Amino acid sequence: MLDVRKIRLILELRESGISNSDVLSALETIPREKFIPENYRYQAYENIALPIGNNQTISQPYVVAKMTELLEVENNHKVLEIGTGSGYQCAILSKLARRIYTIERIKNLHERSDKIFEELKLTNIVSKHEDGNNGWTEQIPFDRIIFTAATKNITNRIFSHIKEDGIIVCPIVKNNKQVIIKYIRKNDKLISEEFDDVLFVPNLKGIN
Ligand code: SAH
Repeated sequence: MLDVRKIRLILELRESGISNSDVLSALETIPREKFIPENYRYQAYENIALPIGNNQTISQPYVVAKMTELLEVENNHKVLEIGTGSGYQCAILSKLARRIYTIERIKNLHERSDKIFEELKLTNIVSKHEDGNNGWTEQIPFDRIIFTAATKNITNRIFSHIKEDGIIVCPIVKNNKQVIIKYIRKNDKLISEEFDDVLFVPNLKGIN
């Protein structure tokens, strides 16, 4: 049953404009139901965000696919994710990159996602319980950075983490809305391009 729904979802994503076949096959490979509480699992392959506890959500598959596509991940890349949440976005990235460093501020979610990574044998993920806005200085520089919580702006600290020509994808809060922005670091500046309107939980300071 889940398989039929999964195929339908992949087709729907294609029709919505997701064309990168590596991204689509990562979405086909990673079992989204594993990242979802049991009572919502029957909806795992619907194109909607779902609650994961602690007032947080697992993103809509379209948004995961879109942000992953915009990130242009290659298999030798080192990626930083801020906002592990359920771990689903991170698991998708782990199929495309060399290594993912992911940070979650809520301890419970950090621990739960870590267990799932282990169960699924996603051994190229390193995770920590921290405020992601502090970055991961020991691992600088990163080829790619993705935020999965709505953020006001890219701070100098995070800017210092990205390589020249590197890409940052982030939901940015703008005039009471949120929009996905893709930034490319060129000549020590960030060049930005706007994409879809989205609805993410806010990027909060400190840990919980
Ligand atoms: N990528 C996730 C989306 C989860 S929602 C998924 O695929 O499920 C965003 C997550 O970002 C939440 O779990 C929230 O606790 C976390 N978050 C918010 N602000 C943060 C911060 N400053 N540092 C780390 N994590 C943060």
